[in-house]
Amino acid sequence: MFQTRITELFGIKYPIIQGGMQWVATAELVAAVSNAGGLGILSALSFDPEGLRKEIRRTKELTDKPFGVNLTFLPTLRPINYEDYIKVIIEEGIKIVETAGRNPEPYMPYFKEAGIKVIHKCTAVRFAKKAKEIGCAAVSIDGFECAGHPGEEDITSLILIPLTVDAVKIPVIASGGFADARGFVAALALGAEGVNMGTRFLATKEAPVHPNIKKWLVEASERDTRLILRTLRNTARVLNNKVVEQVLELEKRGAGIEEIGPLVSGLKGKKMLETGDRDAGILACGQCVGLIKDIPTVKELIERIVNEAREVIKNFP
Ligand code: NAD
Repeated sequence: MFQTRITELFGIKYPIIQGGMQWVATAELVAAVSNAGGLGILSALSFDPEGLRKEIRRTKELTDKPFGVNLTFLPTLRPINYEDYIKVIIEEGIKIVETAGRNPEPYMPYFKEAGIKVIHKCTAVRFAKKAKEIGCAAVSIDGFECAGHPGEEDITSLILIPLTVDAVKIPVIASGGFADARGFVAALALGAEGVNMGTRFLATKEAPVHPNIKKWLVEASERDTRLILRTLRNTARVLNNKVVEQVLELEKRGAGIEEIGPLVSGLKGKKMLETGDRDAGILACGQCVGLIKDIPTVKELIERIVNEAREVIKNFP
């Protein structure tokens, strides 16, 4: 049960994919997801290119199952040479890449030549169509509920998923809002062939994050996320805290990235995850945080979703 073109394409047991979360999607979490039958995805930009090489090798020591690497193309405060990351990805024999943010077209020739299957994660039907045209193997469609960058059009998963499924022939992964078996079944009912979960995997035993942050996710409700960077047209959904309130104040005053950047920098977010200080930076977080009530192991979580999904279907009226 639950075999789809996504499980077939990537050689995995269950169509459950772990979001390539910055600082969080490291070897331990990625290997745990892949070992439990899902698809783990390393976050490239958590490392410099040589650090990514080491992390890929570390992941291979922890799992012999398929895993991928996420490469995000969005504005950054520091310059990034994507070719250097792609070179490492190819040299290390990675066969699955998840791109996110801007159109990956300039880099597709490298991926194609290396026999890499590309999942493009995007936020609109027209971007998904483009991804198909340029040769992506699958698309991941991010609804407005999602953590991090939902785009600027505020279309929820319930609408985006079926529209994307109708618009592209390649398999679609539902991303944004998924945290339990009910969501998983709903995504499949909408025509998706897998789900991508980030926030839910952040609250697992294996996520390399301070316990105080995981506890925060369990305590938070669906009303506790905020949208920042909207005035810069680079909207991000994050968990509310003092820094977020400061950023929103600055945005109200029309501040630019020069003023806002130091507050939202990824490095501050890293410090938050390491120290457990909830006001040290910003934390990308989806509305599905309201559904998170515990901190299971990755294996417990994936098995729970699959087993409960069977019950959900069996109990349909
Ligand atoms: P960073 O520290 O360079 O930047 C911090 C934030 O500011 C990021 O959200 C970035 O997109 C934004 N930003 C930077 N320059 C900007 C500009 N000129 N205009 C508008 N916004 C600007 O980035 P980082 O935290 O080290 O992250 C690296 C990359 O990974 C970024 O592209 C970031 O957006 C992305 N990321 C995505 C998610 C997600 O979607 N779930 C989570 C974390 C990071």
